[in-house]
Amino acid sequence: AADMRGNYIARRIMPVVDFPKPGITFRDITPALQDPRALRNSIDLFAERYDNMGLTQVVAIEARGFIFSAALADRLGIGLTLIRKAGKLPREVYSTSYTLEYGDDILELHKDSLKARDKVIIMDDMLATGGTMTAAVELVRNSPATIVETAFVCELLHLGGRKEMDRIGVNSYAICA
Ligand code: AMP
Repeated sequence: AADMRGNYIARRIMPVVDFPKPGITFRDITPALQDPRALRNSIDLFAERYDNMGLTQVVAIEARGFIFSAALADRLGIGLTLIRKAGKLPREVYSTSYTLEYGDDILELHKDSLKARDKVIIMDDMLATGGTMTAAVELVRNSPATIVETAFVCELLHLGGRKEMDRIGVNSYAICA
């Protein structure tokens, strides 16, 4: 049944050729968000896996990661920790730069946001090259928190992002061919 729900989500993620620049096929998740069953399925799948795992926070990557993370954190009854793009978090931050499929960027995390008692997953909407999540893992590793695994709604298998995730588990439900 889990596979069927993942497939249902995957069918609602629309490929857009040559966006935002030639050679990139962008995966547009907005139709999946608009479909109530796809949105519910995505949160159900995560909630079933992470219920009773003792997680204390869902760590969310800006911006589309926020959507699923907020809904999941609420469903699990735990907190939401934000990893944001440069210059958005107002207090002292850990900072790391990374390379995206289509450009460079900086991610930041408030230094005091995670404690030794925290057991977290790090979530984003999509795993592509793995550069973004690798940077996020590096950020969280500055803190004393325990990372259980990384979680994505959707995974672009051909980019091999999974191999980039050094000694950290990857969990995703929809495969985008
Ligand atoms: P990456 O760092 O290459 O794994 O890229 C992951 C991040 O960039 C995620 O936050 C995605 O939302 C976004 N992203 C990368 N490639 C794509 C793509 N082809 N379509 C849509 N989003 C993408």
